[in-house]
Amino acid sequence: MDFQLRDRVAIVTGGSSGIGLATVHLLLSEGAKVVSCARDPKKIEDSIQWLKDSGAFVEERFVATVCDVTDEAQTNALAETARARFGGADILINNAGQGRYSTFETTSDDDWDAEMRLKLYSVIRPTRAFLPLLRQSDAAAIIVVNALLARQPVAHMVCTSAARASVHNLVKSMSVEFAPTVRVNAILVDSVNSGQWERRFADRPDKQQSRSDWFAALAHSRQIPLARMGLPREAAAAIGFLASPAAAFITGASLEVSGGMSKAA
Ligand code: NDP
Repeated sequence: MDFQLRDRVAIVTGGSSGIGLATVHLLLSEGAKVVSCARDPKKIEDSIQWLKDSGAFVEERFVATVCDVTDEAQTNALAETARARFGGADILINNAGQGRYSTFETTSDDDWDAEMRLKLYSVIRPTRAFLPLLRQSDAAAIIVVNALLARQPVAHMVCTSAARASVHNLVKSMSVEFAPTVRVNAILVDSVNSGQWERRFADRPDKQQSRSDWFAALAHSRQIPLARMGLPREAAAAIGFLASPAAAFITGASLEVSGGMSKAA
């Protein structure tokens, strides 16, 4: 696929695993220059090895660094890394994060604080840090990896759903405020088989259950219309499209990548 991203500078937060890592792979394969970050240095090392094994790794076009995206000083340092290494930034992919399982009754104030902080500041901090660089680009785009929960809350992820709805709203506000210089779009993800689902598979009660059986049962129980879990590279392809000139007239949009899980018409 040619997304026309050659030599564009892209930042992928949470690029060491799942959707983020698949996006790093896609961008490197398209000839982009990529800055990836996550918190755990070991996971970053493993992701670099995976990129090398897959043939996508190009040393002159890639830097991966430790950064907690909710931390202002660390996100500022990440922007400085992009500026110093590649001279700027064209594309910011706010992907880092994870879901929290809790109902209203089991969510404490501390949980609410932590969840709202992670979901909102994982978008706010990198966006604020990179905005001056993005504004200098002639094709700037921000893509937020959000969840279908933003539109379709579930009772067992009550604070994640509310936090995702806040991010959904924020994407729209930013798309208006940053236009026409910087486009801002989101994908609404559900049921994509990534690190989060792999951890749940590892914790399955019946350790005899095979990987394929566990994921098939999961897809069935979730009643996914396309009858399977999605692949990280399928979410990455949607991100690549929204980052590309093919989406030049699209801003403020949220594209569902969920195998048809949305109930909305
Ligand atoms: P993974 O767990 O595979 O990847 C998450 C990535 O984010 C890791 O690289 C992780 O690395 C990084 N990360 C987490 N917190 C931070 C932080 N504070 N600062 C920097 N990096 C961080 O999950 P997915 O690929 O599934 O998740 C990608 C995004 O998609 C997340 O925002 C997730 O909530 C969202 N999503 C995914 C769904 C799915 O079905 N897969 C459904 C709905 C939403 P490290 O821990 O080392 O920091």
